[in-house]
Amino acid sequence: MSVPPPPSKDFIREIIDEDLASGKHAGTVTRFPPEPNGYLHLGHAKSICLNFGIAEEYGGRCHLRFDDTNPIKEEIEYVDSIQEDIRWLGFDWGGHLYFASDYFEQLYEWAIHLIQEGKAYVDEQSAEAIRRTRGDLQSPGTASPWRDRPVDESQALFVQMRAGEFADGEKVLRAKIDMAHPNLNMRDPVLYRILRADHHRTGDKWCIYPMYDFTHGQSDALEHITHSLCTLEFENHRPLYDWFLENLPVPSHPRQIEFSRLNLNYTVMSKRKLLQLVTEGHVSGWDDPRLPTLRGIRRRGYPPEAIRAFCKTIGITKFQSTNDIALLENAVREVLNREAPRYMAVLDPIRVVLTNYPEDQVEEMEAVINPEKPEDGTRLVPFSRELYIEREDFMEDPPKKFFRLSPGREVRLRSGYFIRCDEVIKDDAGEIVELRCTYDPTTRGGENPADGRKVKATIHWVSAAHAIDAEIRLYDRLFRSETPDRAEGSFLDHLNPDSLQILTGAKLESNLAKVAPGETVQFERLGYFCADIDSTATALVFNRTVGLRDAWAKAKG
Ligand code: ATP
Ligand code: MG
Repeated sequence: MSVPPPPSKDFIREIIDEDLASGKHAGTVTRFPPEPNGYLHLGHAKSICLNFGIAEEYGGRCHLRFDDTNPIKEEIEYVDSIQEDIRWLGFDWGGHLYFASDYFEQLYEWAIHLIQEGKAYVDEQSAEAIRRTRGDLQSPGTASPWRDRPVDESQALFVQMRAGEFADGEKVLRAKIDMAHPNLNMRDPVLYRILRADHHRTGDKWCIYPMYDFTHGQSDALEHITHSLCTLEFENHRPLYDWFLENLPVPSHPRQIEFSRLNLNYTVMSKRKLLQLVTEGHVSGWDDPRLPTLRGIRRRGYPPEAIRAFCKTIGITKFQSTNDIALLENAVREVLNREAPRYMAVLDPIRVVLTNYPEDQVEEMEAVINPEKPEDGTRLVPFSRELYIEREDFMEDPPKKFFRLSPGREVRLRSGYFIRCDEVIKDDAGEIVELRCTYDPTTRGGENPADGRKVKATIHWVSAAHAIDAEIRLYDRLFRSETPDRAEGSFLDHLNPDSLQILTGAKLESNLAKVAPGETVQFERLGYFCADIDSTATALVFNRTVGLRDAWAKAKG
């Protein structure tokens, strides 16, 4: 067997290789900088896998830094959940947990430094006026009447801003760069605003807060980040990122590199939209299994290895694209096929009575736990005279290509026996309520009989007397549109009304009673299912993680 070639490196890892080879850096320091204003989603997972992945591969380190410069939307709840989710994905920042708010004092000093150098000034125009005078791509901006005020005056005003002597929004500190710069971000950007809000860490210590742009690069520099990896929308901010680092006495000058963000079809990934889905009750919470949040997919039963494998598959580029969610689902199947123990479950049961099976007999049938992992051994499944099979595995009047159970036809019960259907029992409304069948005692374990008789189908079953009841939650895509963000009207107009289907009559193999919430198993022939956190010993609830095959590809094809 030939060894497959190693996957080619993405452009970021190529840059890192060069920087290490040239001696520019002796090692790598990356960071993942979430704003604690929401739960992490699959887009964040891409960034986490990149930043922490590089640290692992290069023997470097990756910092977790909360970008907490906006006290209005940030909450401690998010700080905690983000850490938990990163750990769940399988990454660790060691002792390197930081908060941008820890640098507020340093950033303030650097703001004073810029003022003293004549590179920043206090502006008294309203936010509206600042926006209006910024100009556009065709025309230069208009200088503020305060732009050339004396350095001392700006410094005194900035000190007063900090001391709380002005109302919110009354003044701002702006960098003095170039009002005619072709890049609008360079036209005297705002560095500080006055905002009275309780910060989750600094409380009411500050009433001025630095803007993201004035915080991010300097935080990177303070932490000696070597490669500051961010998404493409920050490309236009890079000149400003570099300008601050060139004009401040920072201890290092990290390099910002942009890559394209993860977009997935049939879902939305912006925190604002996810928040709206949650607060307006379109889903049950941040951990609703239909959401692309890490909480959601975890509850759904997606294993973290699958997320990491998926991120590796899609790679890192600068091209904007939308990835097919089927690719993620395949990564999930691949891991679960390898890892998940098998059980039998009947979601839509129909009763089968084996008329020639002894009334009180119960046999323990041996069944393989996981054919991919013979070392996991076997389990014992009770078999008795009354069973349940899946309603759709029977047809009274079957079309040509239907090979499962029908009157006069024989099928194999997986790890059970061959059974033949002799009689169909219906209620007054004509609904099938029971099938009378006979079993062939010589086919125990589903073995072929000595006469060489063959059957064309194997179906799953559970013993009626031993079966346990469960609620099964079947999930489909949350949106009907492939691109809900870009479709007509609001993205909410494109919600899939059938994204959750709840089945209450399912009958499960008794061995499933011991599956703990959070564990994912395979229901043979049906798919992968994860015991939900709502599940209790007396009321089991399972979420369908993913089917065995891509049902959508089939439907489209
Ligand atoms: P949103 O647009 O959903 O509000 P954000 O970029 O504002 O997300 P942050 O908390 O600032 O959210 O993100 C932390 C890090 O995760 C940033 O470095 C950001 O670039 C990265 N990130 C966010 N969304 C994606 C995505 N879809 N693909 C790749 N990286 C992402
Ligand atoms: Mg952000």
